[in-house]
Amino acid sequence: MIGKIPEEGLMIRPIRDGTVIDHIPPGEAFHVLRILGITGTTSECLSVATNVESKVSGCKDIVKISNRELKKEEVDRIALIAPKATINIIRNFRVADKLSVHIPKRLTGVIKCPNPGCISNSDEPIPSKFKVENGTLRCHYCDNVITRDIVSYII
Ligand SMILES: [Zn+2]
Repeated sequence: MIGKIPEEGLMIRPIRDGTVIDHIPPGEAFHVLRILGITGTTSECLSVATNVESKVSGCKDIVKISNRELKKEEVDRIALIAPKATINIIRNFRVADKLSVHIPKRLTGVIKCPNPGCISNSDEPIPSKFKVENGTLRCHYCDNVITRDIVSYII
């Protein structure tokens, strides 16, 4: 695929430079944006397509972010909610790099600890830290474990 224009990408306007996140489970596109810290108030130029027909999985979401190349660390966060996502880095309308996501071993400053007494929720400037184990997240400070609904704890 490298160097070729992805045909499925034609559903929404091709971008010149940036990142295309493909094969997101249907309905998860906005959670992907949240986990990347992209909100309506940030300056990225976005195209979001939801429930796009896919030959592989039936239905999927696609997110295109212009003029921004996602870093490996950012890409891996997506694995928590979209483990089959593929990332295409686009330069001059061509796929310059193709990455897949890998569930990270540690997450820092991404997920809020549900324990209100946790030191990461105090007034101290301590970022949250989680260890990822078999799809669950364990707080580095208080051992609190998040087993489901990870999306709702994204900072
Ligand atoms: Zn904690």
